[in-house]
Amino acid sequence: MTAPLLRTEALNCYFAGLRAVADLSFEVRPGEIKAVIGPNGAGKSTLFNMIAGVTRPAAGRIFFDGIRIDAMPTFRRARLGIARTFQNLQIFRDMTVLENVITGRHMQGRAGVIGALLHVPSLRAENRAMADVAMELLARFELDDKADVLAGDLSFGQMKVLELARALASEPRLLLLDEPAAGLPQAEAVHIGKIISTLNRDGMTVLLVEHNMRMVMSLSHDILVLNNGMRIAEGDADSVRRHPDVLAAYLGG
Ligand code: ADP
Ligand code: MG
Repeated sequence: MTAPLLRTEALNCYFAGLRAVADLSFEVRPGEIKAVIGPNGAGKSTLFNMIAGVTRPAAGRIFFDGIRIDAMPTFRRARLGIARTFQNLQIFRDMTVLENVITGRHMQGRAGVIGALLHVPSLRAENRAMADVAMELLARFELDDKADVLAGDLSFGQMKVLELARALASEPRLLLLDEPAAGLPQAEAVHIGKIISTLNRDGMTVLLVEHNMRMVMSLSHDILVLNNGMRIAEGDADSVRRHPDVLAAYLGG
């Protein structure tokens, strides 16, 4: 068995006494697409925030590639290779599409976002290389013709693709996607699904939170089902679909 890329041990998180994530232990294996599903309020985004470093667990441990990360600041986790997108789209609307991707690229470089924004001269060569890589990424996602457009002028679907491209610009080893298809018509959801599938075929490990069950069932190698912060089921699409507790959680039973 290969070692897991991500592993959590008995993670707990509370908000004002509410237990948002409860004793959650699970693993993500390298090269897999693992989905986390569950009703609203199940704790999915809180889990992502703990992995990315935005929210500190009250108890429990998180390991990335064998390294304990639960007390690490966000930027160090990013440098180790964890990148994410957000449930509520977070792009820089007043920056161009290309600039948005370059900010993602800087997560990985020494220059940092501030240096790039200040146009420090010694960083120019490095920035040019970053722009080249960013353009390649945009081309891959068919957004290269929009490179100089303000991100705020893109369609919603294009913004979701841009956010994904920006996350990839840091060349992560683990991609956390929080509802990549939320708010998209089915055709655009399928487009995002194809992008995720292609990335995975190229070796990317993905942790996917998504309500679009067609996407979850078709993409995921393994599915973790949460309810009230707890794991109620875990397994492949067929076993999860048939699990009585999963049906009950979704039907409010
Ligand atoms: P999901 O992403 O599965 O819909 P969340 O992780 O966003 O669920 O939320 C889990 C629970 O924690 C919910 O009851 C939610 O109201 C609560 N919660 C999440 N974030 C906060 C916060 N910053 N402050 C207070 N309560 C929160
Ligand atoms: Mg959420």
